[in-house]
Amino acid sequence: MSEEIPVAKPVIGREEEERVLAVLRSGQLSLGPTGPEFERRFAEKVGARHASAVSSGTAGLHLALRAVGVRDGDEVVTSPFSFVASANAIVFERATPVFADIDPVTLDLDPAAAAAAVTERTTAVLPVHIFGYPADLPAFERLGLPIVEDACEALGALDREGVPVGGRGHPAVFGFYANKQLTTGEGGLVTMGDASMKARIDSERNQGRAPDMGWLDHDRLGFNYRLSDLQAAVGLAQLDRLDGMLADRARVAAAYREALAPLAADVGLGLPCEDRDRERRGWFVFVVQVPRERDRDQVIRDLRSRGVQSKPYLPAIHLMSYYREVHGHREGEFPVCEDVAARSVALPFFPEMTEGQVDRVAAVLAEVLRG
Ligand SMILES: *Cc1c(COP(=O)(O)O)cnc(C)c1O
Repeated sequence: MSEEIPVAKPVIGREEEERVLAVLRSGQLSLGPTGPEFERRFAEKVGARHASAVSSGTAGLHLALRAVGVRDGDEVVTSPFSFVASANAIVFERATPVFADIDPVTLDLDPAAAAAAVTERTTAVLPVHIFGYPADLPAFERLGLPIVEDACEALGALDREGVPVGGRGHPAVFGFYANKQLTTGEGGLVTMGDASMKARIDSERNQGRAPDMGWLDHDRLGFNYRLSDLQAAVGLAQLDRLDGMLADRARVAAAYREALAPLAADVGLGLPCEDRDRERRGWFVFVVQVPRERDRDQVIRDLRSRGVQSKPYLPAIHLMSYYREVHGHREGEFPVCEDVAARSVALPFFPEMTEGQVDRVAAVLAEVLRG
Protein backbone atom coordinates (compact mmCIF):
# COMPACT_ATOMS: atom_id res chain seq x y z
CA MET A 1 0.00 0.00 0.00
CA SER A 2 1.28 3.51 -0.77
CA GLU A 3 2.26 5.91 2.01
CA GLU A 4 -0.44 7.57 4.12
CA ILE A 5 -1.34 11.09 2.94
CA PRO A 6 -1.29 13.60 5.84
CA VAL A 7 -3.94 16.35 6.26
CA ALA A 8 -1.36 19.15 6.43
CA LYS A 9 2.39 19.61 5.98
CA PRO A 10 4.50 22.80 6.24
CA VAL A 11 7.04 23.86 3.60
CA ILE A 12 10.35 24.29 5.43
CA GLY A 13 13.76 24.49 3.80
CA ARG A 14 17.31 25.81 3.89
CA GLU A 15 16.16 29.45 4.12
CA GLU A 16 14.34 28.84 7.41
CA GLU A 17 17.32 26.90 8.77
CA GLU A 18 19.78 29.62 7.83
CA ARG A 19 17.74 32.47 9.29
CA VAL A 20 17.17 30.61 12.56
CA LEU A 21 20.87 29.78 12.75
CA ALA A 22 21.76 33.45 12.23
CA VAL A 23 19.53 34.47 15.15
CA LEU A 24 20.95 31.69 17.34
CA ARG A 25 24.48 32.87 16.57
CA SER A 26 23.55 36.52 17.21
CA GLY A 27 22.71 35.70 20.82
CA GLN A 28 19.55 37.86 20.69
CA LEU A 29 16.84 35.27 20.90
CA SER A 30 13.97 37.56 21.88
CA LEU A 31 13.19 41.32 21.83
CA GLY A 32 15.90 41.68 19.17
CA PRO A 33 15.68 43.21 15.68
CA THR A 34 14.13 40.19 13.91
CA GLY A 35 10.63 40.66 15.38
CA PRO A 36 10.21 44.26 14.12
CA GLU A 37 11.64 43.26 10.72
CA PHE A 38 9.06 40.48 10.44
CA GLU A 39 6.29 42.91 11.47
CA ARG A 40 7.32 45.47 8.82
CA ARG A 41 7.55 42.90 6.05
CA PHE A 42 4.23 41.27 6.97
CA ALA A 43 2.41 44.63 7.18
CA GLU A 44 3.77 45.55 3.76
CA LYS A 45 2.58 42.23 2.34
CA VAL A 46 -1.07 42.81 3.29
CA GLY A 47 -1.04 46.61 2.91
CA ALA A 48 -1.43 47.35 6.63
CA ARG A 49 0.05 50.42 8.35
CA HIS A 50 1.13 48.55 11.47
CA ALA A 51 1.67 45.02 12.75
CA SER A 52 2.36 43.52 16.16
CA ALA A 53 3.76 39.98 16.29
CA VAL A 54 2.48 37.83 19.16
CA SER A 55 2.88 34.30 20.48
CA SER A 56 -0.27 32.84 18.88
CA GLY A 57 -3.41 33.72 16.97
CA THR A 58 -5.32 33.28 20.22
CA ALA A 59 -3.08 35.81 21.99
CA GLY A 60 -3.59 38.22 19.08
CA LEU A 61 -7.38 37.90 19.31
CA HIS A 62 -7.22 38.55 23.05
CA LEU A 63 -5.11 41.71 22.70
CA ALA A 64 -7.13 42.98 19.71
CA LEU A 65 -10.39 42.62 21.66
CA ARG A 66 -8.87 44.55 24.58
CA ALA A 67 -7.58 47.18 22.16
CA VAL A 68 -11.05 47.91 20.74
CA GLY A 69 -12.35 48.28 24.30
CA VAL A 70 -14.13 44.98 25.02
CA ARG A 71 -14.63 44.64 28.78
CA ASP A 72 -16.31 42.65 31.52
CA GLY A 73 -20.03 42.21 30.82
CA ASP A 74 -19.91 43.26 27.16
CA GLU A 75 -21.30 41.22 24.29
CA VAL A 76 -19.36 40.43 21.13
CA VAL A 77 -21.23 39.08 18.11
CA THR A 78 -19.33 36.29 16.38
CA SER A 79 -19.54 33.07 14.37
CA PRO A 80 -20.22 29.66 15.93
CA PHE A 81 -18.49 28.05 12.91
CA SER A 82 -14.85 28.72 13.73
CA PHE A 83 -11.89 27.36 15.60
CA VAL A 84 -12.78 27.66 19.30
CA ALA A 85 -10.12 30.34 19.94
CA SER A 86 -12.23 33.13 18.40
CA ALA A 87 -14.97 32.63 21.01
CA ASN A 88 -12.60 31.80 23.88
CA ALA A 89 -10.71 35.09 23.46
CA ILE A 90 -13.98 36.94 24.17
CA VAL A 91 -14.49 34.92 27.35
CA PHE A 92 -10.91 35.79 28.48
CA GLU A 93 -12.19 39.35 29.06
CA ARG A 94 -15.35 38.09 30.82
CA ALA A 95 -17.42 39.28 27.89
CA THR A 96 -20.06 37.06 26.27
CA PRO A 97 -19.70 35.61 22.78
CA VAL A 98 -23.11 36.11 21.14
CA PHE A 99 -23.27 33.70 18.23
CA ALA A 100 -25.20 34.33 15.02
CA ASP A 101 -25.71 31.86 12.18
CA ILE A 102 -23.55 31.60 9.07
CA ASP A 103 -24.12 32.09 5.37
CA PRO A 104 -24.76 28.65 3.81
CA VAL A 105 -22.58 29.42 0.77
CA THR A 106 -19.49 31.19 2.15
CA LEU A 107 -19.82 29.63 5.66
CA ASP A 108 -18.84 33.03 7.12
CA LEU A 109 -20.87 34.92 9.76
CA ASP A 110 -24.09 36.11 8.08
CA PRO A 111 -24.25 39.95 8.32
CA ALA A 112 -28.08 39.98 8.64
CA ALA A 113 -27.99 37.40 11.45
CA ALA A 114 -25.20 39.36 13.13
CA ALA A 115 -27.21 42.59 12.90
CA ALA A 116 -30.19 40.85 14.51
CA ALA A 117 -27.97 39.69 17.42
CA VAL A 118 -26.78 43.20 18.32
CA THR A 119 -28.07 44.57 21.64
CA GLU A 120 -27.26 47.69 23.67
CA ARG A 121 -24.51 45.66 25.38
CA THR A 122 -22.75 44.77 22.10
CA THR A 123 -19.36 46.48 21.95
CA ALA A 124 -17.72 44.68 19.02
CA VAL A 125 -18.22 42.28 16.12
CA LEU A 126 -15.74 39.47 15.47
CA PRO A 127 -16.17 38.04 11.95
CA VAL A 128 -14.03 35.02 11.02
CA HIS A 129 -12.74 34.55 7.46
CA ILE A 130 -13.42 30.85 7.72
CA PHE A 131 -11.47 28.45 5.48
CA GLY A 132 -9.83 31.56 4.00
CA TYR A 133 -13.03 32.90 2.42
CA PRO A 134 -13.28 36.67 3.07
CA ALA A 135 -16.15 37.76 5.34
CA ASP A 136 -18.42 40.55 4.10
CA LEU A 137 -16.58 43.39 5.85
CA PRO A 138 -18.41 46.31 4.22
CA ALA A 139 -21.68 44.87 5.59
CA PHE A 140 -20.21 44.51 9.09
CA GLU A 141 -18.83 48.04 8.93
CA ARG A 142 -22.38 49.33 8.38
CA LEU A 143 -23.27 48.07 11.88
CA GLY A 144 -21.16 50.95 13.22
CA LEU A 145 -19.39 48.86 15.87
CA PRO A 146 -15.67 48.17 16.37
CA ILE A 147 -14.55 45.13 14.38
CA VAL A 148 -11.88 42.55 15.17
CA GLU A 149 -11.20 40.25 12.23
CA ASP A 150 -10.18 36.65 12.81
CA ALA A 151 -7.93 36.31 9.76
CA CYS A 152 -6.08 33.27 11.12
CA GLU A 153 -7.17 31.16 8.13
CA ALA A 154 -7.16 33.90 5.50
CA LEU A 155 -3.66 35.06 4.62
CA GLY A 156 -3.72 35.90 0.91
CA ALA A 157 -7.49 36.53 0.68
CA LEU A 158 -9.04 39.63 -0.93
CA ASP A 159 -12.36 41.06 0.23
CA ARG A 160 -15.29 42.15 -1.95
CA GLU A 161 -13.66 45.52 -2.53
CA GLY A 162 -10.40 43.88 -3.57
CA VAL A 163 -8.62 44.84 -0.31
CA PRO A 164 -6.24 42.21 1.08
CA VAL A 165 -7.54 40.72 4.33
CA GLY A 166 -5.60 42.52 7.06
CA GLY A 167 -5.40 45.77 5.12
CA ARG A 168 -8.70 47.48 6.01
CA GLY A 169 -7.48 49.15 9.18
CA HIS A 170 -9.50 47.13 11.71
CA PRO A 171 -7.33 44.95 13.90
CA ALA A 172 -7.00 41.68 11.94
CA VAL A 173 -5.44 38.66 13.58
CA PHE A 174 -3.31 36.04 11.81
CA GLY A 175 -2.11 32.71 13.19
CA PHE A 176 1.13 30.88 12.38
CA TYR A 177 0.58 27.36 13.72
CA ALA A 178 2.19 24.68 11.54
CA ASN A 179 -0.84 24.06 9.31
CA LYS A 180 -1.42 27.74 8.39
CA GLN A 181 -0.48 29.41 5.08
CA LEU A 182 2.62 30.81 6.83
CA THR A 183 4.09 29.16 9.91
CA THR A 184 6.47 30.05 12.70
CA GLY A 185 5.73 26.79 14.56
CA GLU A 186 3.52 28.71 16.97
CA GLY A 187 2.84 32.39 16.55
CA GLY A 188 0.47 35.12 15.51
CA LEU A 189 0.26 38.75 14.44
CA VAL A 190 -2.21 41.64 14.56
CA THR A 191 -2.35 44.15 11.68
CA MET A 192 -4.03 47.52 12.19
CA GLY A 193 -4.23 51.06 10.88
CA ASP A 194 -3.89 52.91 14.16
CA ALA A 195 -0.45 53.65 15.66
CA SER A 196 -1.76 54.07 19.21
CA MET A 197 -3.41 50.64 18.98
CA LYS A 198 -0.06 49.14 18.01
CA ALA A 199 1.59 50.86 20.97
CA ARG A 200 -1.02 49.39 23.31
CA ILE A 201 -0.72 45.87 21.87
CA ASP A 202 3.08 46.03 21.88
CA SER A 203 2.96 46.98 25.55
CA GLU A 204 0.35 44.41 26.59
CA ARG A 205 2.16 41.53 24.87
CA ASN A 206 5.21 42.48 26.93
CA GLN A 207 3.89 42.62 30.53
CA GLY A 208 2.55 46.17 30.16
CA ARG A 209 5.89 47.81 29.62
CA ALA A 210 6.21 51.10 27.78
CA PRO A 211 8.81 50.86 25.00
CA ASP A 212 11.04 53.52 26.57
CA MET A 213 10.72 52.24 30.14
CA GLY A 214 13.10 50.13 32.09
CA TRP A 215 12.82 46.37 32.29
CA LEU A 216 10.94 46.37 35.59
CA ASP A 217 8.62 49.32 35.01
CA HIS A 218 5.02 48.45 34.17
CA ASP A 219 2.37 51.09 33.51
CA ARG A 220 -0.53 48.77 32.72
CA LEU A 221 -1.65 45.15 33.05
CA GLY A 222 0.07 42.98 30.48
CA PHE A 223 0.82 39.43 29.44
CA ASN A 224 3.73 37.49 28.03
CA TYR A 225 2.45 37.11 24.48
CA ARG A 226 5.79 37.76 22.77
CA LEU A 227 7.00 36.06 19.61
CA SER A 228 10.68 35.15 19.89
CA ASP A 229 13.28 36.23 17.33
CA LEU A 230 13.78 32.56 16.47
CA GLN A 231 10.13 32.32 15.46
CA ALA A 232 10.25 35.66 13.62
CA ALA A 233 13.26 34.33 11.69
CA VAL A 234 11.19 31.39 10.48
CA GLY A 235 8.44 33.88 9.58
CA LEU A 236 10.80 35.99 7.45
CA ALA A 237 11.89 32.95 5.44
CA GLN A 238 8.23 31.95 5.08
CA LEU A 239 7.35 35.46 3.81
CA ASP A 240 10.00 35.05 1.09
CA ARG A 241 8.27 31.91 -0.15
CA LEU A 242 4.69 33.00 0.61
CA ASP A 243 3.56 33.86 -2.94
CA GLY A 244 4.79 30.49 -4.17
CA MET A 245 3.10 28.60 -1.32
CA LEU A 246 -0.20 30.43 -1.88
CA ALA A 247 -0.03 29.69 -5.61
CA ASP A 248 0.65 26.03 -4.82
CA ARG A 249 -2.36 25.88 -2.49
CA ALA A 250 -4.54 27.39 -5.22
CA ARG A 251 -3.17 24.83 -7.69
CA VAL A 252 -3.99 21.93 -5.35
CA ALA A 253 -7.49 23.36 -4.77
CA ALA A 254 -8.11 23.59 -8.52
CA ALA A 255 -6.94 19.98 -8.95
CA TYR A 256 -9.35 18.87 -6.18
CA ARG A 257 -12.23 20.76 -7.77
CA GLU A 258 -11.66 18.98 -11.03
CA ALA A 259 -11.09 15.55 -9.50
CA LEU A 260 -14.18 15.80 -7.25
CA ALA A 261 -16.59 17.29 -9.82
CA PRO A 262 -18.07 13.86 -10.70
CA LEU A 263 -18.75 13.12 -7.01
CA ALA A 264 -20.37 16.53 -6.58
CA ALA A 265 -22.62 15.80 -9.57
CA ASP A 266 -23.49 12.15 -8.81
CA VAL A 267 -23.67 11.77 -5.05
CA GLY A 268 -24.13 15.40 -3.97
CA LEU A 269 -20.71 15.91 -2.35
CA GLY A 270 -20.52 19.61 -1.32
CA LEU A 271 -17.43 21.53 -2.49
CA PRO A 272 -16.02 24.86 -1.20
CA CYS A 273 -17.78 27.84 -2.82
CA GLU A 274 -16.13 29.48 -5.82
CA ASP A 275 -14.84 33.06 -5.56
CA ARG A 276 -17.57 35.68 -6.14
CA ASP A 277 -16.80 38.93 -8.00
CA ARG A 278 -13.64 40.48 -6.56
CA GLU A 279 -13.53 38.17 -3.54
CA ARG A 280 -10.57 35.76 -3.45
CA ARG A 281 -10.15 32.91 -1.03
CA GLY A 282 -6.75 32.54 0.61
CA TRP A 283 -6.62 28.75 0.39
CA PHE A 284 -6.11 27.18 3.82
CA VAL A 285 -8.00 23.87 3.88
CA PHE A 286 -10.05 21.91 1.38
CA VAL A 287 -13.29 21.05 3.19
CA VAL A 288 -16.05 19.00 1.59
CA GLN A 289 -19.57 18.30 2.88
CA VAL A 290 -20.68 14.68 2.80
CA PRO A 291 -24.26 14.08 1.60
CA ARG A 292 -26.87 14.33 4.41
CA GLU A 293 -27.69 10.62 4.42
CA ARG A 294 -24.06 9.64 5.06
CA ASP A 295 -22.42 9.14 8.47
CA ARG A 296 -19.55 11.65 8.33
CA ASP A 297 -17.49 9.99 11.07
CA GLN A 298 -17.76 6.64 9.32
CA VAL A 299 -16.55 8.29 6.08
CA ILE A 300 -13.50 9.57 8.01
CA ARG A 301 -12.80 6.07 9.39
CA ASP A 302 -13.19 4.54 5.93
CA LEU A 303 -10.77 7.06 4.44
CA ARG A 304 -8.30 6.34 7.23
CA SER A 305 -8.39 2.59 6.64
CA ARG A 306 -7.48 3.29 3.01
CA GLY A 307 -4.46 5.46 3.90
CA VAL A 308 -6.03 8.93 3.68
CA GLN A 309 -6.06 11.20 6.74
CA SER A 310 -8.97 13.61 7.14
CA LYS A 311 -10.60 15.61 9.94
CA PRO A 312 -14.12 16.52 11.11
CA TYR A 313 -13.39 20.21 10.57
CA LEU A 314 -14.95 22.30 12.08
CA PRO A 315 -17.24 21.32 14.95
CA ALA A 316 -19.80 23.97 16.01
CA ILE A 317 -18.40 25.98 18.94
CA HIS A 318 -21.73 26.40 20.76
CA LEU A 319 -22.17 22.61 20.92
CA MET A 320 -18.83 21.97 22.63
CA SER A 321 -19.17 20.76 26.23
CA TYR A 322 -17.79 23.97 27.75
CA TYR A 323 -20.18 26.20 25.80
CA ARG A 324 -23.13 23.92 26.56
CA GLU A 325 -22.38 23.54 30.26
CA VAL A 326 -21.08 27.00 31.17
CA HIS A 327 -22.86 29.19 28.61
CA GLY A 328 -26.10 27.19 28.31
CA HIS A 329 -26.03 26.58 24.56
CA ARG A 330 -27.96 23.75 22.96
CA GLU A 331 -28.67 22.07 19.66
CA GLY A 332 -30.99 23.84 17.23
CA GLU A 333 -29.82 27.40 17.88
CA PHE A 334 -27.87 27.85 14.64
CA PRO A 335 -29.27 25.39 12.10
CA VAL A 336 -27.03 26.32 9.15
CA CYS A 337 -23.87 26.06 11.23
CA GLU A 338 -24.99 22.77 12.81
CA ASP A 339 -25.82 21.19 9.46
CA VAL A 340 -22.50 22.25 7.90
CA ALA A 341 -20.48 21.26 10.99
CA ALA A 342 -22.03 17.77 11.02
CA ARG A 343 -21.10 17.10 7.38
CA SER A 344 -17.67 18.74 7.03
CA VAL A 345 -14.54 16.79 6.26
CA ALA A 346 -11.15 18.46 5.76
CA LEU A 347 -9.19 16.50 3.15
CA PRO A 348 -5.38 16.38 2.91
CA PHE A 349 -4.25 19.82 1.70
CA PHE A 350 -0.76 21.33 1.60
CA PRO A 351 1.36 23.25 -0.93
CA GLU A 352 3.60 20.32 -1.92
CA MET A 353 0.69 17.98 -2.55
CA THR A 354 1.04 16.36 -5.98
CA GLU A 355 -1.71 15.88 -8.51
CA GLY A 356 -1.18 12.14 -8.08
CA GLN A 357 -1.98 12.49 -4.37
CA VAL A 358 -5.07 14.60 -5.13
CA ASP A 359 -6.25 11.95 -7.58
CA ARG A 360 -5.66 9.20 -5.02
CA VAL A 361 -7.68 11.05 -2.37
CA ALA A 362 -10.46 11.61 -4.91
CA ALA A 363 -10.44 7.93 -5.94
CA VAL A 364 -10.53 6.73 -2.32
CA LEU A 365 -13.33 9.17 -1.48
CA ALA A 366 -15.30 7.95 -4.51
CA GLU A 367 -14.82 4.33 -3.38
CA VAL A 368 -16.06 5.23 0.12
CA LEU A 369 -19.05 7.31 -0.99
CA ARG A 370 -20.14 5.05 -3.85
CA GLY A 371 -19.37 1.78 -2.08
C1 LIG B 1 -5.65 28.84 13.87
C2 LIG B 1 -6.80 29.67 14.25
C3 LIG B 1 -6.75 30.55 15.35
C4 LIG B 1 -5.56 30.76 16.24
O1 LIG B 1 -4.89 29.67 16.61
P1 LIG B 1 -3.53 29.63 17.46
O2 LIG B 1 -3.32 28.17 17.57
O3 LIG B 1 -3.77 30.31 18.74
O4 LIG B 1 -2.45 30.32 16.68
C5 LIG B 1 -7.86 31.34 15.59
N1 LIG B 1 -8.96 31.27 14.83
C6 LIG B 1 -9.04 30.45 13.77
C7 LIG B 1 -10.28 30.46 12.93
C8 LIG B 1 -7.97 29.61 13.45
O5 LIG B 1 -8.06 28.76 12.40
